[in-house]
Amino acid sequence: MSTFAAPKGTFDLLPPRGEAFLAVREAIAAPLRRAGYGYVETPAFEETALFARGVGESTDIVTKEMYSFETRGGDQVTLRPEGTAGVLRAVLEHHLDKGGLPVKLWYSGSYYRYERPQKGRYRHFSQVGAEALGTEDPLVDAELVVLAMEAYRALGLTRVRLLLNSLGSAQSRPAYRDALQAHLATADLDPETRRRAEINPLRVLDDKRPELADLIASAPLLQDFLSADDRAHHDAVRTALADAGVEWEDAPRLVRGLDYYTRTTFEFVHDGLGAQSAVGGGGRYDGLAESIGGPRLPGVGWALGVDRTVLALEAEGRALPGATPLDLFVVPLGEAARRRCAALVTGLRRAGVATDMAYDGRGVKGAMKAADRSGAAYAVILGDRDLEAGAAQVKHLASGEQTAVPLDDLVPHLVTLLENP
Ligand code: ATP
Ligand code: MG
Repeated sequence: MSTFAAPKGTFDLLPPRGEAFLAVREAIAAPLRRAGYGYVETPAFEETALFARGVGESTDIVTKEMYSFETRGGDQVTLRPEGTAGVLRAVLEHHLDKGGLPVKLWYSGSYYRYERPQKGRYRHFSQVGAEALGTEDPLVDAELVVLAMEAYRALGLTRVRLLLNSLGSAQSRPAYRDALQAHLATADLDPETRRRAEINPLRVLDDKRPELADLIASAPLLQDFLSADDRAHHDAVRTALADAGVEWEDAPRLVRGLDYYTRTTFEFVHDGLGAQSAVGGGGRYDGLAESIGGPRLPGVGWALGVDRTVLALEAEGRALPGATPLDLFVVPLGEAARRRCAALVTGLRRAGVATDMAYDGRGVKGAMKAADRSGAAYAVILGDRDLEAGAAQVKHLASGEQTAVPLDDLVPHLVTLLENP
């Protein structure tokens, strides 16, 4: 009989590393909560058309990376490759845009892309994201960037760099598009790239193939085509970042993997991760709501990759946040003691003491080994004879020091002991 393995490009998150993932999600969420962002959850799959329109027909995500299938009922659905389209769909469906603006939301979950698996690039991965909808205020673009940097700082990461660019708006893009297409037309492109140059020439700038490097390096820059409004918006974002003491690098060639970005675009990169250096990214997407059939609803957001953030912590040699250690390990010796210990463990846990016990009628040697392995500071040992005497042995595991404590006093005694070790 063969056994099963996790599907290619996926991995199981096991203790203690699993705790690091939870801690990273918490660290990203904390600054968002302090800034008025509300938690939202949307389904892990949506109508395929939402992503085709919301992410963009010419993107790698839509052309190559989606997990799409037909349901038994004949619906075309796709496992979400990113979070923004679903969140925006929910905002429009529930008319949150008709209430107070901006609507500020955050989310956390699993995302799915059929990619070539590598370190830091998986088919099932985890992001925490944030979106602010119904505002064009450049202070909000800056707010989001600052909140992401706060999360990295709180985690102790020191090597995250912020790359910043503006992709302009509908005021700037047509003239730039013409100039870029004229430039790309000078090269002998393969049919797929030529098609891309016609549909969305900006996407060609994101092509990492070496044979296109010269063509891309010599391409005209969007910053030379920015309208006065787009320029003013970008300058206001930069000023707000400077006021917040956040450093950035201007990255005039930064374009991102989704079609919907306008104006502000940014990426957080970490130099310890090799090829998969982006730990997060985002930007403004003022045209997205309309492209999925809604009203005009400008917005800005980001998504930070949890998997790569954990890899970045490891690359910087940071101690990964671990599980809360146990305070106590309870060792029953004998059948009557087992029952009493189970009740004791329940009482201790209710009193807030992190407690585990030896199960399966383990002998003293095996049980004490389990106590040592558990990381607890103290063990409570209770044999049937102790039970008759009405006292348990409390043992400090590091020193081996042992004292008898009356059973009736045990819970308050242990609570006090653990508070003042
Ligand atoms: P890349 O250029 O590395 O493919 P991307 O631009 O496709 O990244 P986004 O769609 O902006 O990535 O997603 C935001 C973040 O989510 C990325 O910066 C990265 O940290 C993480 N991420 C994206 N795709 C994956 C993946 N396949 N595996 C692990 N993390 C990912
Ligand atoms: Mg990608």
